Amino acid sequence: MSSILVYALHYDGAFNKNSLGAVAEGARLAAELGGECHAVVVGDKAGLTDELCASLGGYGATKVFRVEGPEGLAQPVVDAMARVIGDNGHGYALFGGGVLGFEIGAGLTARLDAGVCMEVTNVRVEDGKLVAERPILQDSSVSDVHYRSGVGVIIGRLNAFEAKEAGDGTAAVEDVAVEFAPHSLKAQIVTRGEQRGADVNIEDADILVAGGRGLGKAEGFEALEDLAGALGGAVAATRAVVDAGWYSYSAQIGQTGKTVAPKLYLAAGISGAIQHKVGMQSSENILAINKDPNAPIFEFSDLGVVGDLHKILPKLTEAVKAKKGS
Ligand SMILES: Cc1cc2nc3c(=O)[nH]c(=O)nc-3n(C[C@H](O)[C@H](O)[C@H](O)COP(=O)(O)OP(=O)(O)OC[C@H]3O[C@@H](n4cnc5c(N)ncnc54)[C@H](O)[C@@H]3O)c2cc1C
Repeated sequence: MSSILVYALHYDGAFNKNSLGAVAEGARLAAELGGECHAVVVGDKAGLTDELCASLGGYGATKVFRVEGPEGLAQPVVDAMARVIGDNGHGYALFGGGVLGFEIGAGLTARLDAGVCMEVTNVRVEDGKLVAERPILQDSSVSDVHYRSGVGVIIGRLNAFEAKEAGDGTAAVEDVAVEFAPHSLKAQIVTRGEQRGADVNIEDADILVAGGRGLGKAEGFEALEDLAGALGGAVAATRAVVDAGWYSYSAQIGQTGKTVAPKLYLAAGISGAIQHKVGMQSSENILAINKDPNAPIFEFSDLGVVGDLHKILPKLTEAVKAKKGS
């Protein structure tokens, strides 16, 4: 019988969807293992109210370990989780993914000398143990990862786990005092800002207007935002532009981003690399604008427009607005 510990990240008085998905997944798996799903939260106690912590019970957590400490930094969470696992003997630590989940998961793995699997899209129970499923070879195959270590660390792909509510349960809240390692307190969050597009859930959008390096610079996204607004859709991006800091990671489509299947996927200035294609190829209609007639994206587009996006996008936006009468 094994219990599962999940890290739940909160911002501005709410847990993020990715963390709620991890808690719900942990609860589903713990029930199959005959154990419990617990969550650990780290932050300012004034923000982490009893009510907020207990609300994780609505996603299946039976207990929440509340640790007073710096929010949003990886190392203090590693200290907190190592302490909670040491005291309570959890068999697995589960993360929803995202940059912080990866960093904490990696730190915890090193600290506990644990086995780890990341980019996990599904977890199943086999012979009373968890088996993590990880897509490999550009998502064309799935590998099963079994754990031999005392603690198994599972890091999900971002938003891979559904934030499924499990009724109106409330979790017990237990305060744990953790002495942080000196090196864990060396980093500080100086400021926190909103990234463009970070507030939109692109997986729910029927229309996605995606931009790539062909936009030329971060400001190139303004034309895409105008078009998305006119169409009533949302903006997506390739990894190249996310890595360049032009747009938010939450909008990244592809192997290391999100998988989407909107009614319309309009790709502007995107070459159509396989790692991008795997995230959007199931879209109902793919429309590509690219100045290179030999761009790979045209091989899997329903409609291809060869031309300069800087000229086409404003005219398209104008035409959509005119058609909609706005
Ligand atoms: C392990 C791994 C994981 C990866 N994961 C992802 C992922 O999740 N998502 C992802 O997207 N990529 C991913 N990549 C990167 C991927 O291989 C490509 O490098 C990336 O998708 C290219 O992005 P892009 O199409 O924006 O840029 P480019 O390949 O540089 O393409 C830019 C395109 O814009 C066109 N263009 C330029 N100017 C104009 C203009 N004025 N008008 C019209 N068209 C123009 C060009 O003809 C070109 O086709 C991954 C790579 C690796 C190795």
